[in-house]
Amino acid sequence: MNEKEVCIIGCGPAGATAAIYLKRYGMEPIVFEKDLIGGKTNYTEKIENYLGYLGEKGAQLGLQMAQQLEKLDIHPIYREINGVYQNADGTFLVTYGTEENAFRYVILANGLADRPYHVPGEETFKRKGISTCAVCDGPFYKGKDVLVIGSGNAAFEEACYLCTICHSVTLVARREEFRAQEESVERFRSFPNSKILAPYQCVSCRGKTSLEAVTVRNSKTEEEIELAVQGMFVYVGSIPVTGFPQIPGLCDDKGFLKVDPTSMKTSVPNLYAVGDCRNTPLRQITTAVADGSLAATQIHFDYLRSRKK
Ligand SMILES: Cc1cc2nc3c(=O)[nH]c(=O)nc-3n(C[C@H](O)[C@H](O)[C@H](O)COP(=O)(O)OP(=O)(O)OC[C@H]3O[C@@H](n4cnc5c(N)ncnc54)[C@H](O)[C@@H]3O)c2cc1C
Repeated sequence: MNEKEVCIIGCGPAGATAAIYLKRYGMEPIVFEKDLIGGKTNYTEKIENYLGYLGEKGAQLGLQMAQQLEKLDIHPIYREINGVYQNADGTFLVTYGTEENAFRYVILANGLADRPYHVPGEETFKRKGISTCAVCDGPFYKGKDVLVIGSGNAAFEEACYLCTICHSVTLVARREEFRAQEESVERFRSFPNSKILAPYQCVSCRGKTSLEAVTVRNSKTEEEIELAVQGMFVYVGSIPVTGFPQIPGLCDDKGFLKVDPTSMKTSVPNLYAVGDCRNTPLRQITTAVADGSLAATQIHFDYLRSRKK
């Protein structure tokens, strides 16, 4: 097979799995990654629900994914893709920087971006107190007082990690009902330096050169409290980034790529979408790797069938 047949955009669990399956089917996928092999797993403190993985640390799982690709002679190209266009002959033009390549098949495996929190001061204190990654930035807040914003599993799990480093961790949730699993909530509550403020919302951030204080408002009583904190970790969900495939009609009304769930095919022939970036009821490592294997298998099947014609 021509080495420019399959392009995989993103090398998180979904894209990396697609690459492994394609390689083992005898194909030579070209994988583009703008950051780290393993994607979001690298920025997760603990992973306890991925079958067969006992390492716990997300970064270790990311490293093992990279080692597995290396062992199979798969070498991602570390570049950010900024455009995918369809040519008149049905192939795809994939652009990165000033370079471009044509591919017959494209797998979109580019995950999600962090949802912005939209609080006054957020832009000023980004990387100067406000972070979206406890694993990356938590150690800078050793012995300090921090806030965690959010009520899902990611918020509670990363807040538990911060409790092991920081002096105090206050979790601020918009509603009194949390989206996180009960086990994560209870684990957080069990730390003596943890506190939950719900239903509260952060309304402003202040500081001279870095974050020093935030104001939170009770959503029912409107009462405001000022909290002296040096760090704020925001876990308010993710949004799809589907602007770069410049092909209309690919997404649902929330911006997720629409696919046939048995094959991962989008409505455009030979264009596939896998993992967190697609419309799926569950965004986890296990679902991402399942998607990657299905897309690769479908492409291989399709490729064999086209050769017989
Ligand atoms: C804090 C947190 C904790 C989590 N904990 C768990 C857990 O315990 N268990 C679990 O199963 N799941 C967990 N998840 C979810 C899990 O991490 C994701 O479902 C999974 O990583 C999705 O894999 P993916 O390959 O679809 O996307 P990602 O892992 O997001 O990978 C996408 C990759 O694409 C790359 N990329 C994006 N755009 C481009 C571009 N234009 N060009 C080139 N490369 C690009 C990115 O750099 C990234 O490496 C957690 C998520 C978070 C945020």
